[in-house]
Amino acid sequence: MDSHMILRDRSLALKVAKYINEHCSRDRYVIMHVCGTHEYTITHSGIRSLIPKVDLRAGPGCPVCVASPVNIDLAVKLSLMDNVLVTTFGDMFRVKGSKFSLMDSKGMGGRVQVVYSIHDAVELARRNPNFEVVHFAIGFETTAPSTAAMLLSNPPKNFSIIPTHLLIPPAMLYLLNLGEIRIDGFICPGHVSTIIGVKPYLDIAYSKRVPMVIAGFEPLDVLMGVAMLIDMINDGEYTVKNEYTRAVRFEGNVKAIELMNTVFKVSDAYWRGIGFIPKSGLELKDEFSSFDARVRFDVEVEADYTMPPGCRCGDVLRGLIMPWECPLFAKACTPENPVGPCMVSSEGSCSIAYKYGGSYLHKIMG
Ligand code: SF4
Repeated sequence: MDSHMILRDRSLALKVAKYINEHCSRDRYVIMHVCGTHEYTITHSGIRSLIPKVDLRAGPGCPVCVASPVNIDLAVKLSLMDNVLVTTFGDMFRVKGSKFSLMDSKGMGGRVQVVYSIHDAVELARRNPNFEVVHFAIGFETTAPSTAAMLLSNPPKNFSIIPTHLLIPPAMLYLLNLGEIRIDGFICPGHVSTIIGVKPYLDIAYSKRVPMVIAGFEPLDVLMGVAMLIDMINDGEYTVKNEYTRAVRFEGNVKAIELMNTVFKVSDAYWRGIGFIPKSGLELKDEFSSFDARVRFDVEVEADYTMPPGCRCGDVLRGLIMPWECPLFAKACTPENPVGPCMVSSEGSCSIAYKYGGSYLHKIMG
């Protein structure tokens, strides 16, 4: 981006922030987003300090943070078996299950390989026919289509997955039903919405009378999303609007949705720090169950959902507190020595707050 564009965007962003501040007719608007990249943009750009009457809360927008510890424990156990190699994305490598992470397992002699995509994992299976390659298949609706496409592309017989895909709209509904925190509006995640489109949010917006805006990831996108929400909240308009029209279509990515529907069925799922959320997970359909590592390997894992002592990731993920309100933040818990999952992943709110908690926009504004 050249300096003219930066200056133009900065000036537009400030105009939108001014519009928001002028249209805040109450002292506090609580707007939640559910996306690690949005949290990065908001924190890195210092958006919170530009719009003081808008309380921007991060919800469960980091798939690594909410991944079930039971699935991590299973991956650790499998990686310590003789003929098994577990593949994982980088962020997942350091997240502990009930006791150990895959990184710990590697230190104990386990076979673990960090990969950039599920395609790399399948290639490893092809090149290592004497090993069972188990991929930790994690992510929201954004990555689930790649997993589905890979399972439909005739992967080698020694390849399987630990299905850990989760769905965002049911989690939004769950938080609204919990009612632990007032939520005046939602910024819907851009990446997820490129896949699912606008429709899955509509019922929630209408039934719970909560306005929603799908927003992109530039600071200007987020500010525009907030401005649209403030107008909708003030007008009592409970629907879903799309700020991110350059990437999100009403119907979403039909091909990707088809892939997901072919391979997965919707199930209840455990979200770490939150609990079991109805119809929020993706399990493999029966005809694909041979790719499910939990079916392929006869390995028992005790269901232990306890969080590390003192860690308040659950409260952070439900938007009840900001990361710095956790007593361990930046003291016992840092990105180098993380206590909870929200400090491990680059999309975790605690990690983002620790690294980028300054006010970038204020700095460049002088
Ligand atoms: Fe958990 Fe660390 Fe965040 Fe506290 S600061 S909520 S211990 S990840």
